[in-house]
Amino acid sequence: MSRVYNFSAGPAVLPLEVLQQAQNEMVEYPGLGMSIMETSHRGKVYAALQAEAEANLRELMGIPADYAVLFLQGGASLQFGMVPMNLLLPGQVADYTNSGAWGEKAIEDARRIGQVHVAADCGADIPTRVPRIAELQLSDNAAYVHITSNETISGAQWKEFPRTEAPLVADMSSDILSRPIEVRDFGLIYAGAQKNLGPSGVTIVIIRKDIAERVPASVPVMLKYRTHIKSDSLYNTPPCFSVYMLNLITRWVKEQGVDKLFAQNRAKAALIYDAIDKSGGFYRGTALPECRSDMNVTFRLPTEELESSFASEAAAADLKNLKGHRSVGGIRASIYNAFPVAGVEALVAFMQDFQTRNG
Ligand code: PMP
Repeated sequence: MSRVYNFSAGPAVLPLEVLQQAQNEMVEYPGLGMSIMETSHRGKVYAALQAEAEANLRELMGIPADYAVLFLQGGASLQFGMVPMNLLLPGQVADYTNSGAWGEKAIEDARRIGQVHVAADCGADIPTRVPRIAELQLSDNAAYVHITSNETISGAQWKEFPRTEAPLVADMSSDILSRPIEVRDFGLIYAGAQKNLGPSGVTIVIIRKDIAERVPASVPVMLKYRTHIKSDSLYNTPPCFSVYMLNLITRWVKEQGVDKLFAQNRAKAALIYDAIDKSGGFYRGTALPECRSDMNVTFRLPTEELESSFASEAAAADLKNLKGHRSVGGIRASIYNAFPVAGVEALVAFMQDFQTRNG
């Protein structure tokens, strides 16, 4: 077997033992005589694994009983529309923070539904930072306040979350389960699974049940959180295989422990940031030090030509997918929970070698 170090921003590396378990169970799920992909979502076997995935997430994140955990489809992108459709009523205003490409997308969709107030706009400083809490200019009686906890493209991350009177809504697609958080401080958290939670195809929504009740009657049934709360995410056929994989990931995270993963994530990111800071300016970190993401480490080289040869030479050395997002260029190393420490060490050694040859 030859597995490379995969720095992809998502879909992203999964733990090898999880992939191997899925491989073992692919054709014949234990006791079922068929694949989990071939069985009814109304059957006992699927019901048990979805219930376990929910219980594991509740335990790992400390999700209180008055919050629902939903398994939806449509990616985090659908949440850009569902959040305002469900929570932003006519005559109300929602506060949004502009922190980068993903925050902007959320703002664009919310504007299609209702009135948006940009409570903090660091648009001029993207991709170097996310807003500071002190910059927030919140509306009185906002329907909710929206943030993007980690801007995957910029590599900039909120290190602390604002305390807001209105429900705080967070797109946590690229850092959910990478650090401990207090769910109680949020009204709604959403995340596409394909970075820290599993393969693509399933989106997690954690929602305080009472805020789901305000949804206007005109919203289609599949787009109402209430529908999925009432039916335990089984209103229609769920993405069974993705939920199965997500369940295996939650077991793996339980074995590791969120605190331990958090410490390891910080240590992994620090190895690369240290290499950047000690390079005498050859490598330049994109995000300001106080906003540096532990999940997506972004940096520049002296020229675009050097960036291009860095990414292609790294790929030849089995350090894959280091090219920055097409909209911003540069280099991006995505190092989610499942990314191994040894891969980070290999990248740092490569960075030093590349600088010696090109610096
Ligand atoms: N928000 C963030 C922070 C993301 O990183 C991404 C995907 N990279 C999205 C939203 C969009 O997610 P999806 O592709 O699941 O719609």
